[in-house]
Amino acid sequence: ATSFAGRRVSLFGLGGSGIATARALIEGGAEVLAWDDNPESVARAQEQGVTTGDLRGADWAGISSLVLSPGVPLTHPKPHWVVELARAASVEVIGDVELFARERNRLQADAPFIAITGTNGKSTTTALTSHILKSAGRDTQMGGNIGRAVMTLDPPAAGRHYVVECSSYQIDLAPSINPTAGILLNLTPDHLDRHGTMQHYASIKEQLVAGSETAIIGVDDAWCAQIADRLERAGKEVIRISKRLPLTDGYFADGTNLMEAVHGRYSRVGFLEGIGSLRGQHNAQNALAAVTACLKVGLELGEIQAGLESFPGLAHRMEQVARKDHVLFINDSKATNADAAAPALSSFPRIYWIAGGLPKEGGIEPLRGFFPRIAKAYLIGEAAPAFSATLGEAVPYEIAGTLATAVERAAAEAARDESGEAVVLLSPACASFDQFKNFEVRGEAFRQAVAAIDGVKPIGG
Ligand code: ADP
Repeated sequence: ATSFAGRRVSLFGLGGSGIATARALIEGGAEVLAWDDNPESVARAQEQGVTTGDLRGADWAGISSLVLSPGVPLTHPKPHWVVELARAASVEVIGDVELFARERNRLQADAPFIAITGTNGKSTTTALTSHILKSAGRDTQMGGNIGRAVMTLDPPAAGRHYVVECSSYQIDLAPSINPTAGILLNLTPDHLDRHGTMQHYASIKEQLVAGSETAIIGVDDAWCAQIADRLERAGKEVIRISKRLPLTDGYFADGTNLMEAVHGRYSRVGFLEGIGSLRGQHNAQNALAAVTACLKVGLELGEIQAGLESFPGLAHRMEQVARKDHVLFINDSKATNADAAAPALSSFPRIYWIAGGLPKEGGIEPLRGFFPRIAKAYLIGEAAPAFSATLGEAVPYEIAGTLATAVERAAAEAARDESGEAVVLLSPACASFDQFKNFEVRGEAFRQAVAAIDGVKPIGG
């Protein structure tokens, strides 16, 4: 954070990443004045050596920037008071990714920077890209919206690679972002509560690829396809990826084969056949993006394929946790709404489905197309009555009530299934808060319930 040496910087939002960012700024020689609406957070920051002060009374004329923590409202429902104060004083409002981008630019180190955004698949693509680079022996730092706050990563140096997951919020506050490769996976209406219109949401995401040296864009939805066309017309290097269309130029999936197209001539650059952690069409999109970015920074095809094959997958996202004979146990606790549950339901032909929790609007109606794959549903939590009404006659179900009961019942019935591989799938299509602290705790409870079954073999960590 030495770009801020000697300057007065205000910082608002003192959660874990806010405190880490404040400390990085202080270590870089900035004078930081930090604040939070929550007195406990302020106290914790003070304990860690951060100077705090109510920014309502600050002398804004002497402050060069306001650094915000993710989630502090910029516009919706209305700007946070601290944002209004900064704007009134013409003080720039930025986030930690902006601090990182400026620092990397200042040092001018040859440090490849891969930034990843999109509505879905960000964390998977970030973790996968980082994993491939690491397994190829590259010095790799991963962070941003996943894992560590960017300002706590090791500083830019020659040959050090950065793989950074960026939320819309972080991009909106990072006007200088200029990755070596910027990835925009997909755009679907989500989080519009926070971003207003789809147009606005898309335009923020576009800034990431617009700022990058090479823009890698998933063109399977109309919004992203338009962005790719627009950037290309403006002279940017655009690489298109598609999980379903054979492109003339770019990278696409043909079944489990990853293909490169150059003026309509195709060659295979990798494959996903047999890679359990990257099952499903949505993961083909994530893998194509990771492969394209790794090629851009000079990896060889063999190194990339080795990384794909050894990728352990992310916890709680279609995570294979255990197997017993022909039954595979999958933890997809992260699927907190129907849309997020769709990829898992589409990836397996015979499913013993554990669903429910705190229901979201629309319930599981959007998943009706997958009902033929569901051998039986085990319903838990508050959503059980509504879900059972939607399942009706179409799918056999029982109200299991708790996750532990659901696992026990599903495992027993799947074990008796004689039609080949059966999957016991936790993909709840609901928030967890009626029975669990968060989706991670719910996923761990699933893992433990599965581990307690006689004769199961855990997979991976
Ligand atoms: P994010 O970080 O964007 O929330 P994750 O990688 O954590 O995304 O994946 C969350 C869930 O979203 C996964 O469990 C899967 O159901 C779904 N998903 C993952 N990748 C994609 C994709 N490329 N397109 C659509 N859905 C996806």
